[in-house]
Amino acid sequence: MKREFRDMLKERGREELPQVLLVSAECAPLSKTGGLADVVGTLPKALKKLGVEARVITPYHRVIKDKYFGQTEHMFYFYTELGWRREYVGIEKLILDGVTIYLVDNERFFNDRIYRGDRAELEQYAFFTRAVLDAIPNLDFVPEVIHCNDWHTAMVPMIARTQYRGCMQEGLRYLLTIHNIAYQGKCGFAQVQDLLSVEDKYYTPEFMELHGCANFLKAGCVFADRINTVSPSYAREIMTPYYAEGLDGILNARAAQLSGIINGIDKAVFNPHSDKSIPAHYDRGHLRGKAVCKAALQERMGLAQRPEVPLVAMVTRMTEQKGFDLVTAVLDEMMSHEDMQFMLLGTGDARFENFMREAEGRYKGRLCAYIGYSEELSHLVYAGSDFFLMPSRFEPCGLSQMIAMRYGSIPIVRETGGLRDTVIPYNQFTGEGNGFSFANFDAWEMLAVVRTALRCYGNKEIMQGLINRAMQADFGFALSAQEYARLYIWML
Ligand code: ADP
Repeated sequence: MKREFRDMLKERGREELPQVLLVSAECAPLSKTGGLADVVGTLPKALKKLGVEARVITPYHRVIKDKYFGQTEHMFYFYTELGWRREYVGIEKLILDGVTIYLVDNERFFNDRIYRGDRAELEQYAFFTRAVLDAIPNLDFVPEVIHCNDWHTAMVPMIARTQYRGCMQEGLRYLLTIHNIAYQGKCGFAQVQDLLSVEDKYYTPEFMELHGCANFLKAGCVFADRINTVSPSYAREIMTPYYAEGLDGILNARAAQLSGIINGIDKAVFNPHSDKSIPAHYDRGHLRGKAVCKAALQERMGLAQRPEVPLVAMVTRMTEQKGFDLVTAVLDEMMSHEDMQFMLLGTGDARFENFMREAEGRYKGRLCAYIGYSEELSHLVYAGSDFFLMPSRFEPCGLSQMIAMRYGSIPIVRETGGLRDTVIPYNQFTGEGNGFSFANFDAWEMLAVVRTALRCYGNKEIMQGLINRAMQADFGFALSAQEYARLYIWML
C-alpha cells in the first residue's frame, strides 16, 4: 500500500483500504455507449493495482447476455417492490480481467436497449436503483463506498438514506460522479412516487424538485456524501449557470464536497507502438510509421496522396456539444483558402451529417466525411492525421483529444472542461505546449487558431516538438485511480 494511503487511513483510525462498489448503467467492454463505460470498465483494474478492491454492479443488458451468457455464474435471486409492482431480480456474477462484475438480471427491463428513452428509461433505472439497494447486503462482498455514476444511478443515495433507515445501506458512504450534467433524469413527481415510493416531502427545491420537475441528478447532488466530475475545470464550470443546466444552486451549496478527477485512457488499447488496427507502428522517436498511416488513411478515404499537406481530423458524435455549429460556419472558408485535407468520422444529428456529406461533394479528394461508427477506422484516423479538431461547447473530460495526442495528432481545442486540463497551448516564444486552443465559442476564433496550426505545420522543428510533447503526456488511468482512492479514503 502507498505510504500516503497508510497515513490517511491512520488518521481515520484504521488500516485497511475501503472496498468500493461502482454502480453504473454501462461498463466496457460488456456494454458501452460512451465514455462512462470506459471509466467504469477501467477504474477497478487500476484501483486493484493500488490495493483497492472495487467491484461493479450493472444491468444484465441484452448485449451482455448474448456474448457472456456462458461465463456468468448465477448467485441468487429475489423479488423486489417497484411501487406496486413485484419484480424479479437475478444477481449473476462475471469475473473479467480479474474484476468482479455483478449483473442485475430482469428480462422486462433489460432485454433490449441499454437506454430505452423517456419514461421507459426512467422505469429501467428506477428498477435498477431498487434492485441494487436490495442486493447490496446479500453480495459476497461488503462495500463501504458506493460509487454512483450519472443520473441513472443518482437516486441510490437518496433512497438509501430515506427508505433504508437503520439498515446497512443507510450507513454506507455515497459518491456521485457526474460524467455529463446535460442529462439529469427529469420527470413528473407522480412518476417517481409510483416507481420508487418517494414521500411528498422530498418534492421541494431543498431536495429533488427543480423547475417544476423531479430531478434524479439533483437528488444525487443533495444526498451523496461527495460529488465529483471528470475534470477539475468542469467541476468549476458546473458551478456557473452557463454550464450547470440548472444545477448551479445545489452545486454551489455543496462546493466543499465537489471536486474533479480527469479520466484516463487505456494505454494498452491506444498504443501506436502495438496497435493492430494501423498498418505501421511508431513511437515518439521514430515517426516513419506515422507517415505510412497517413498515406493509408488518404488512400482508404479517397483523399489525394499528398504527404506534405496537413490533414485535420475529427472523430466524434456530431452534436452541438462537440462544436459542430462552429465547423459548419467556417468549413467553406477554411477549405477554400487553405491547402489542407479534412477527415471526419462521426454520426449524430442529421443536419450536421448532411452538411458534411454535401461538403464532401464540394471538396472531392480533399475532404472525407465517413458517416458511421467504426472503432477500427478511428485508430487509423488518429494515427494518420496531423491535427485533431475538437471545438466543444462543453467537454466534461473528453477522451478523444488524449487518444489523438497519444498517436501524435496535435489537438486543436476549445478551452473548456477536460480539454483545458489536458491540452497545453503552444507558446511560440517559449516553445512549450502540446496543442492549440481558443477561448470563446466563436467560429472565427477557431478558424484563426486552425490557421496558426497549419502555419506551424510548415515548420518541421515546431511540429516535431509538438508531436514529441503530445506523445509524451501521460494520460493513463493510474493517476486517476490514485485520486479516486484518495477520495474514497476521505469519505470514510
Ligand atoms: P463523448 O464520450 O462525449 O462522446 P469522448 O471524447 O469522451 O466523447 O469519447 C468519445 C470516444 O468515442 C472516443 O474514444 C472516440 O474515438 C469514440 N468515437 C466517437 N465517435 C466515433 C465514431 N464515429 N467511430 C468510432 N469511434 C468514435
